[in-house]
Amino acid sequence: MAKFSVFKDQESLFACPICQAPMCLDQSSLVCQTRHTFNIAKQGFVNFLRQNKGDKHYDMASFENRSHILAAGYYDPILEVISERLRDLPRYSHVLDVACGEGYYSRQLALEFDKDFMAFDLSKDSILLAARQNPQKNVAWFVGDLAKLPLREHRIDVILDIFSPANYQEFGRLLTDQGLIFKVIPHKDHLKEFRQLLPEAQAYSNQDVLEHFQDSCELLERVMISKTWSMPAEHVQAFAEMTPLFFHVDKKTLDLTSVRQLTVAGELLIGRIKNDK
Ligand SMILES: [Zn+2]
Repeated sequence: MAKFSVFKDQESLFACPICQAPMCLDQSSLVCQTRHTFNIAKQGFVNFLRQNKGDKHYDMASFENRSHILAAGYYDPILEVISERLRDLPRYSHVLDVACGEGYYSRQLALEFDKDFMAFDLSKDSILLAARQNPQKNVAWFVGDLAKLPLREHRIDVILDIFSPANYQEFGRLLTDQGLIFKVIPHKDHLKEFRQLLPEAQAYSNQDVLEHFQDSCELLERVMISKTWSMPAEHVQAFAEMTPLFFHVDKKTLDLTSVRQLTVAGELLIGRIKNDK
């Protein structure tokens, strides 16, 4: 049982996706009171979805690209700011990483903080990759749908929503009274060097995302994080494979060899769900 102890620690947070009853760990499964049973895969994750709902733009190869880029440290300034802010928080226990992809942030933060981390994604491939890279098994990984998470109400203290879509109604259901949302959104300078290769490209603005955040949340802090990195051609290529900017562009028509550096820029928004909602 020790190998799934992270699920033992966090079993009280789960709700059965079929009947919403509380769940508990029974050997290597999460089981609800009416015996709906979800096995924990040997890699250390639970699949709560009946069918795989992957996105065609996010196959295994793109998760692996992302994994290399993250491991190379280009997103570490963002990780560091999140880490600093978590260090400053007075009291919290449960952190939920929303649409965690291959789980970089949760893995890194779980090494630093002795808190309960859980992380999910809609894609089973990405969760498999995340869990495989977490030999410490100190994050409770699961495959789930942001619109309907198998979690009980008002148990989560911090939601990490890093370059991922939000569902503020669901966030409000999950967060404790004083619970916080850490949302990272792209800054307009993000990968600006790629944008310059596209004659049609419009300047990016994150204003809509920011306004949507402020419709539901009181904005407590907004931190801009930007760094321009010189990088080898294979990393430029990996960024090019990953970015939605190029999803509908024939990459062979782009002169990627002219790109020697890339700017990684985001903004961290820290907020709390408005109570009048
Ligand atoms: Zn059930």
